[in-house]
Amino acid sequence: MKYVSTRGHAANQSFTDILLEGLAPDGGLSVPEQWPRVMPVKLEAMRDLPYPRLAFEIVRFFADDFPGAALKSACEKTYTKEIFGSPEITPLRTLEPNLHILGLSNGPTLAFKDIALQLIGNLFEHELAAQDRNLNVVGATSGDTGSAAEHALKGKPRVNVFMLSPQGRMSPFQRAQMFSLQEANIHNIAVEGVFDECQDVVKAINADAGFKEEHAIGAVNSINWARVVAQVVYYFKGYFAATSSNDEQVSFAVPSGNFGNIFAGYVAKKMGLPIRRLVLATNENDVLDEFFRTGRYRPRKAAETQETSSPSMDISKASNFERFIWDIVDGDGDKVAWLWEQVAQKGGFDLSTDRAWEKVEEDSGFVSGRSLHEDRVETIRLVKKKYNQVIDPHTADGVKVALRQREPRYPMICLETALPVKFDATIVEALGEHAPRPPQFEGLEKLPQRFTTMKPDPEALKDYIRSNH
Ligand SMILES: *Cc1c(COP(=O)(O)O)cnc(C)c1O
Repeated sequence: MKYVSTRGHAANQSFTDILLEGLAPDGGLSVPEQWPRVMPVKLEAMRDLPYPRLAFEIVRFFADDFPGAALKSACEKTYTKEIFGSPEITPLRTLEPNLHILGLSNGPTLAFKDIALQLIGNLFEHELAAQDRNLNVVGATSGDTGSAAEHALKGKPRVNVFMLSPQGRMSPFQRAQMFSLQEANIHNIAVEGVFDECQDVVKAINADAGFKEEHAIGAVNSINWARVVAQVVYYFKGYFAATSSNDEQVSFAVPSGNFGNIFAGYVAKKMGLPIRRLVLATNENDVLDEFFRTGRYRPRKAAETQETSSPSMDISKASNFERFIWDIVDGDGDKVAWLWEQVAQKGGFDLSTDRAWEKVEEDSGFVSGRSLHEDRVETIRLVKKKYNQVIDPHTADGVKVALRQREPRYPMICLETALPVKFDATIVEALGEHAPRPPQFEGLEKLPQRFTTMKPDPEALKDYIRSNH
C-alpha cells in the first residue's frame, strides 16, 4: 500500500513512513493511493472474528509493510477486556428495533479516542524500537485527545509526552484524568491562556525545523493516518453486530468535530461495507453541516467558534475534511491545493456546481444535521425516559440528528463518543441527577496531581523540553 499527499506533491511513502509523521512535506495529508476492497467472501469470513483479530485483518490492508507478527501482537495487547471493559470492546446496545448505540467509550479515558490511541501507543513502541529512535510528542488539548494520548503512551520507553492545556478550562474530571498520572514520561503543562494560545505555542515549536529535528518532536493529532485506520474497525464490528447477513445495509450517526471518526466510516464504505447513510451531526459550530447541505465550505475563525456543552465538537476547521475532498475530486492533488488556496484567499470554496458535488449527493452516503444546546438536553432526557439510558452530550447530538434522518427499514447505529460522567454538569442540567460513574473512577478528582504552569511562550516550552528528556 503506497501513500500519497492530498496536495499531490509528496513522494510515495509506506505506512511505517507516515506512522510517526504529521503533515506531508507539501502541506497536505497522507492518503492511500487507492482504497482496498473487501470481497464478499472475505467479509463473510470477518463476521464472527473477535475484535483483536478483526482489527488485525483490517489494519493489515493499510499497513502491509508493518511486520505481521508485530501488528498481530499489538492488536491482541490493545483490545482486551482489561482495557476496554468487555470482550466485545465496542458493545452494541439496542434501544428499540433498528435503533442502536455502539459503545466506543469504555476505554481508560471514557471517550472513543482510546480505541485508536491505545493501538497507536503499541505501534509506536514497536516502530521506535525498530528504527532505534526516540520521540517527544508535543500537543495541545482542550480535553479528550490529550488524556487519551497520555494514557496510551504513559510508561512507554523512547517516548515523552508534553501536553499543553488551558489552565482552569477543562472539566474537573478531565483535568484529574491527565494530571493524576505519575509516570515520569508524561509532562502536563497548564498554560496561562486559552486553547488557541496553547495551539499557537505548539505550532511555533513545529515551525522551528532545527529544534524539531534536534529534539525529535512528533505528534499524535487527529490527522495521524493510523488513527483513522484504527477507527475503521468498529464500523465493521458495529455492522456485524446489528445485522444477520451481509445483504443488509445499515446507517451510522456520528457526532463530528475534526471529521476523523466519520471519515473512518467513509473509508469502511469505500472498502465495500454495506453502509447506507453516514449521518454527520454538528453542534452550534456547523461548518460541516453547511457543506453537506449546500456544497459551500466556509471554515470559521477561532474567534467565531462557540463554546458549547459538547465541547469536543467545538471545531470550525475540520482537519480530516481535506482527505474527503481529495477523494471526491478523484485524487486530483492540484485541485485540492487550489481549493485550499481559495480558503486562504477568499475564506472558502463552493463545489455546488462542480462535478464532485454529484458524487457527494449520489454516492457518498453523507447526510447531515445540527443539534443545539436545547436539542442535546432534550435528547438526553428523552433517551433516559424512553430507554432508561444516560448518554453524554456529544452522543446526544448524534442521536438527535439520527432520529431526524432515520429510515425505518434500515438499522441506525449511533456512535457513543464519550461516557456522560465526563460532562456531568450537562447531565445534571438535563436530568437533575449526576451521571453514573464507573467504579474505577471513584475519587479520581482527589488523587494527587502533577503539572507545571507556564506562560503561552514557545521559548519557555523549548527550555522545558530541553531539560526534561
Ligand atoms: C473528539 C470527539 C468528537 C469528534 O470526533 P472527530 O473525529 O474529531 O470528528 C466527538 N465527541 C467526542 C466526545 C470527542 O472526544
